[in-house]
Formats: sequence, structure tokens, C-alpha cells
Amino acid sequence: MSELLNFNYPAEPAEDRVTLFADVILPLPLPKLYTYRIPFEMNDEVLVGVRVIVQFGAKKVLSCIVADIHENAPADYQAKYVLDVLDDKPIVTAPQLKLFKWIADYYMCTLGEVINAALPSALKLSSESRLQLHPSYEPEEDDIPLATQEAKIIYALQQNQALTFTDVGNLLQLKNYHKYIKSLIQKEAIIIFEQVSDKYSPKVVKKVRLSEHFVQDEAMLEELFAQLTPKPKQLDILLNYLQKVPVHQDKNLNIQGLEKSVLTGNPHLSQSAITSLIRKGVLEQFDQIVSRFQTDFGAMQLPMALSEHQAEAREEILGLFKEKDTVLLHGVTGSGKTEVYIDLIKHALEGGGQVLYLLPEIALTAQIVTRLMKVFGDQLGVYHSKFSDNERAEVWQGILSGKFQVVVGVRSSIFLPFHNLSLVIIDEEHEPSYKQYDPAPRYNARETALMMAHLQGAKTLLGSATPSVETYHNCKNGRWGLVSMTKRFGEAQMPDIELVNTRDEQKRKNMHSHFSAKLLGEIEARLHRHEQVILFQNRRGYAPFIACDECSWIPKCKHCAVSLSYHKFNQELRCHYCGYHERMPSDCPACGATTLKSMGFGTEKVEDELKLLLPNAEVQRMDLDTTKKKNSYQQIIADFESGRTNVLVGTQMVTKGLDFENVSLVGILNADTIINFPDFRANERAYQLFVQVSGRAGRKGKHGTVIIQTRDPLQSIFRKVHSNDYQALYEHEIEDRMRFNYPPFVRMIKITVKHEDERTAENAAIVLAKDLTDRLSKEQVLGPEVPYIFKIRNLFLQEIHIKLHRQSSQLSSSKRLIAGAIHQLKLLPDFKGLRVVVDVDPA
Ligand code: ADP
Ligand code: ZN
Ligand code: ZN
Repeated sequence: MSELLNFNYPAEPAEDRVTLFADVILPLPLPKLYTYRIPFEMNDEVLVGVRVIVQFGAKKVLSCIVADIHENAPADYQAKYVLDVLDDKPIVTAPQLKLFKWIADYYMCTLGEVINAALPSALKLSSESRLQLHPSYEPEEDDIPLATQEAKIIYALQQNQALTFTDVGNLLQLKNYHKYIKSLIQKEAIIIFEQVSDKYSPKVVKKVRLSEHFVQDEAMLEELFAQLTPKPKQLDILLNYLQKVPVHQDKNLNIQGLEKSVLTGNPHLSQSAITSLIRKGVLEQFDQIVSRFQTDFGAMQLPMALSEHQAEAREEILGLFKEKDTVLLHGVTGSGKTEVYIDLIKHALEGGGQVLYLLPEIALTAQIVTRLMKVFGDQLGVYHSKFSDNERAEVWQGILSGKFQVVVGVRSSIFLPFHNLSLVIIDEEHEPSYKQYDPAPRYNARETALMMAHLQGAKTLLGSATPSVETYHNCKNGRWGLVSMTKRFGEAQMPDIELVNTRDEQKRKNMHSHFSAKLLGEIEARLHRHEQVILFQNRRGYAPFIACDECSWIPKCKHCAVSLSYHKFNQELRCHYCGYHERMPSDCPACGATTLKSMGFGTEKVEDELKLLLPNAEVQRMDLDTTKKKNSYQQIIADFESGRTNVLVGTQMVTKGLDFENVSLVGILNADTIINFPDFRANERAYQLFVQVSGRAGRKGKHGTVIIQTRDPLQSIFRKVHSNDYQALYEHEIEDRMRFNYPPFVRMIKITVKHEDERTAENAAIVLAKDLTDRLSKEQVLGPEVPYIFKIRNLFLQEIHIKLHRQSSQLSSSKRLIAGAIHQLKLLPDFKGLRVVVDVDPA
């Protein structure tokens, strides 16, 4: 793959009549790039990084990215022509192409898979892409002279809600119809969308503003006042406008104008007078598409003044950045890391660079975006999967055009077209959700962001109260800088942590279902004091499984080797691995007994029981099931922030970085399911989770308490959590990792072999492990072994783990060996239908 993509730009502007070829990245998992011939008339238009339309296969026409331009015809096939060019300027930047190539190499996938994940679908056109009229397109205004072909498309769209590209081709009876589509997009007459559910409907507000000459020329404005004196109603409106939009202070304020409804909604102002002023040309009316990112966040604010500790940390960070590219800010929960980031972002923006602020979780973006909007206003772009494709395309374009200088986003933001990055912030850097599991590219956004920063000469600041062992190791050995904040901001103290032994409490009959008397009492006490409570339970749903009391029957997924979880709200049994679901039966299908019992418990049950136990509490739940809708995160968080809810029950979503000032109690209902996890990171993960969820308590003034329910309170992890002793955890972990040869001392690769037939999967895994052992060494190859969940989506699984040396030269040669072994394996006739998934640095 690497040979295919040497980014040689043509040394001089391409002359007409030179035969040029473009290597393109198709958004498909193809092992190599394809070469297309550029028609002479497009020689100047086809640039590296633009989208072109090509035909692929017999029928499919789709857009792809130009990765390289050269004069070499492909040796083994006749190059087809590029059909059309979609962009005037590259939409994928040179540093981005380099990064994409790194991702493909490092994470062992194809460039097509990377591009496919990177581009919002609204930027990926194919014969199936659809068009619609732009919501703000007003045909009667007719200020766009439309060529006849374009008019035909518009007319057809007025009759139909949407057309596919193929429809347009048929309509115009043309092959080269893309240029008309492109032109209409540029005129903002139409937009593209990929799925019906994505249909773009931006919020359009009607606004008014003062006609520009009154703003620019004070004499004219005075004259206007004189003219309007006999018309008091109109004068009122003018005065009202000027009061709300003080153009005498800043002329630029007029551009944004005022929402018309603000004037028309005022009962003291006359409707008809507004209309007259518009007709006279004193006020002008205009539509503004309010981007979803600019919902009203209230007035702009200056950043908060840093405390002494924060200012010190900032100075240390800037000092370290002089020598090092990467610094870790290790600050306890509530130490005020966010304000330090904001300060550094401001600093970076003043230097003219772009900033990426990565967060692990959408729930957290909801809170931080509000804070950042107030400081950075509309320079701030937000990027995550709850946004529609068109919204994401808007952010993409906004970064290219320079509109967005700061972007806050989750994992996938590392794909965005930054080209002048000066600072990357990776908040909660220890979070496993930075890793993409499926599908390829299976990248870790933390590692990728570090590479992106490196490629663009930017600095990276990682932040965490509970750094990953890998990151801390890099600081200890001097590669990265380390800055610590050991105190909470202001007067706030670290919370007290109390353990409740649920085994004992059960014997003493002190458990009310899953709540110990202690926890329940503490919750009640907070409710009395009008303080808030967060309850954490690791599982969603009502119960992880149900069982028949008579015959012990347990419903299992038809496609996976797991029991079905019970979701009470819709009376469903659901598989959390493949989504399979069925109705909850009323009696046991095996023996007919009516004694189906739910076993274990998830967030839904916690919520349910709490409502029964404490009927006065306003309880809300935040987990995958309650946050499916686009704005549900924001709603839940806003309800809790405003005090409408007193208790928030949730899965790990509630543990990450959230900041609520009134929370004085955090309860962990069942710590044991977190600790007993078979993985070399289990200890580290458990520590991070406990400390992070505890860290939500007592963040401002109010003293915080954490109650951890466990059947085994003597485990050593609780001592470390209790004393907030990260050092002890780190020392213990790093010794173990060294002794047993785990990351950060080696790099891991997990290979999963999948097949419909159990024996075939097993045999293939044995053959592969043997081949890998021959190519690498015996010590480096572990397995194959059958994973705990041995069947998912009707495929039987086998896993092989590989340990590789860290040096990058060895790393890439080993990866080539592994890729070779897998390629060989798939060629064997015995293993038809075999799937092999490679996961580099599995989380
Ligand atoms: P962390 O991310 O380190 O857990 P936060 O950045 O969320 O902590 O800060 C904790 C709390 O302290 C927040 O409510 C924040 O608004 C407040 N805070 C932090 N720094 C300042 C400051 N300089 N001035 C006023 N309030 C601050
Ligand atoms: Zn039964
Ligand atoms: Zn399933």
C-alpha cells in the first residue's frame, strides 16, 4: 500500500495536452488505489484532495478523492476517464492525506475504509445519492439565472421531494450531468443527502436589520428620525431596534440584525408600522439559517480568571511545550482542568493556529460546548455522531474555509480537514471510548491525534485525573512533560469514600432490593437538603437475564452466545451484541410455569426501584436507551443542572468528566461487576472508573460522599481509590506489565477469526497461529483461544493475541508478516467464507 501513495505533486502547473492520470481513493475496502485518466479539459481542475466522479465496475458511479496525479498509465488495465470534478478546491488537505495513510498502515486497513469513515456521507456522492431543494431556496426571487438544464432539475425537484443522481441523468438524458448538480449546490439552490432520515432542515429565522446607509451615515439617521417624528409608531420601532442592536456602539452589530419575532412579538409595537418601515426601505428583511451549533448560548463571556494553581499549571505547560511536543496535565477531579484548556486554546488562537479539543463522550460535549461557546462564539465547531450528515459536512467545510478555528468533538474529529493545527487537547485521555472497535479503521483517537499533531507541528495536551498507564509511563521516562494539579478548585475538597459490604448487609436484612439501608438513607438526606445524587450501575436494561424459577430456562440470543437482557419499558428481551429482540414471554416457553424471574439488575431497574422506595424523588436515567434521540443528552443534562431532577441514574456515561455543582452523593451500586473482568487492564480500568465516578461528588463547596457497594470490601483496589493514590496504582501496574510483558512494554494485536462453522473457525485459527509462530516467534503468539462470548451474529469466534516490539521499524515489518499470513490463510480452499479481523492496540 505504501508504494501506491507517494504524494508527488506535479512540479509545475499541468500544461494543456499533457496526459495526466489520477490515483483515487474510492470509499470502498479495496486493497489498492485505482488510476483514472484525466480528460485534457480537466487538467487544471483535478487537484490532489478534490473529489472527482468516476465509474467503478459496470454500473456504479461514485465520488472519490484524488490522492495523486502523475503521467504514468497503469500497466495492467486501460484507465477509464474521470467523469467530472466536484470541487474547485481540495476538500481533503495534504496533511490529512498523510494522516489517512498512516491510519491505514498502522491499523492495518485500507485507505478506502479510512476515507469512508472520514467523510460525512453528504460529501460522498454516488448514483444513489439524493438531492433536495435547499430549504431557503426561493424560486420567485429568481436572482439566480439558471441555465435550462439547471432549471429542469429545479422544476423536477419542485414536483418531487427528492431525486437520485440516476434520476437526474435520466431526466436530462445526459451522461455528464454532474456539473449541473455541482453548480446548483454552489448557488445554494439544492443540497445532497444520503438517507431520507438525514433530510436537511436547518432552522431558518426571519430577521430584520437597519438598511446599511443609515448605519454608515449618521446624518442620514438623524434625518430619518426627523422624518419619522410625525409617525410615532414607526419611530417606536426604530428606537426599539436601536436599543436592542446598538449600532452606534458597533456598526457590525447591524449585520446580524434582530429576529423579526422580537419586534412583532412586542404588543406595544404596531405590526403595520413594521411592515411600512420594511416597505420604505428603512428596515430590510432577511432570512438567516441558524446553524444548529449556534443555538442561543447566551451572552459571550470572558474566560474565568485562573486561580493561582491553574495559572501555575498553565505556565508549566507552556514552558514544557518549548522542549516537548506532548504534555500530560494530571489534575485531580474538579481541579479545574477545563479552564486551563480554555486559556491555552485562547493562546493558540491568538497565534493564528487551529485547535482540536477531543472528548470521549457526547454527553460531555453537551456540557462543555455551552461553556466554550460563551468564550469562543461562532469560531467553535462541534462534531459528533448525533449530528446529521449535512451538519457534519457543514463543520468540515467550515474548517476548510477558516470559519471554525476551534473544534470540539468526539473520536471521529481526528478525520477533519485541519491544515494549520497548533494545539490538540485530549481530555480524559485514559478513556477506552477513544478506541473504535468496529468497523475498520479500528483506530485509537488518542494515538491518531498525537500523530496528527506531529504531522502538523502542533502541541498536544493530554488531560486526566486517572491517566492511562501508557501515558504516565511516557511522562516518567521523560518523553512527555508532566504537570500536576493536586487540589480541587476553590474550597472544594476531595469526597469521602465509604464501602458498604452488601454480603453482610444481606445477612442482616439491611438490603432493600439492591439498595443498602446506608445508601438509601444517604440519598434521602440529600433530597431533604435539596442536593443531588448520581447513581452508577454498569449495565443498561432492567436485568441482564431472566430465568425460570421452576426449570431454570434462560432465554438466549438466536445469533449470539449470550443471554437476552430484559428491558421492562417495552417488555422486550434484547441482545446487546446484535440487536436481536423478542417480546418478553408471560410464562416459561420450556415448562409453562409463570415464574419467570429477572436476575441481576441494570439501570432501568435501579430507576424503577428508587421511584418505589423514594416516591418523592425525581429520577432520570442516562444510558444508551434513553439517549437515542438527537437532543436527549442535552435534555437530561439540562434537567439535572437546573434541579428539575434530583437523582441521575446511569451507565459509564455519567462517570465521564461531567460537572454538576449540586451533587453531594455518588452511589456505585455494584462494584464487583467492574473489578472482576478478565483483562490485563482490569485493575487500571476499575481504578479509573471508581475515581472518575467518585469525582462527580462535591465539586463545588458542598462536601461530597461516595458510597461503594461491594461483596468484598477488602480488595486492594479500594484502598487505592480510597486514598486517591494514583502513584500506588501506577507503580503496581507498571511492575506487572513489565513482568508479564504487556503494554506499554510491547504492542498488542488481536486477531479474531470468524466462521459460521465452529470447527472451521477453530481449524483456521490453529493454522494461522502456527503460521504466525513460524513467521514471528513462539513467545509472541498467544492462542488461539475461544473468547468468553464465542459466537456473535452467527459467527463462531477464535482469538489470537500477538505481542510485538515497540520499535516502529520492527513493528511495520511484523505487521507485513501478519498481513501476509492472513492473506495466505484466506486463499486456502478449506476456509471459504472465513473472516479475519485485525485490531491493533486493542482496548
Ligand atoms: P476538572 O475537569 O479538572 O474535573 P473542571 O474544569 O470541571 O474540573 O472544574 C471544576 C469546577 O470548578 C467547575 O464547576 C468549574 O466551573 C470551576 N472552576 C474551575 N476553574 C475556575 C476558575 N478559574 N474560576 C471559577 N470557577 C472555576
Ligand atoms: Zn420453566
Ligand atoms: Zn445477538
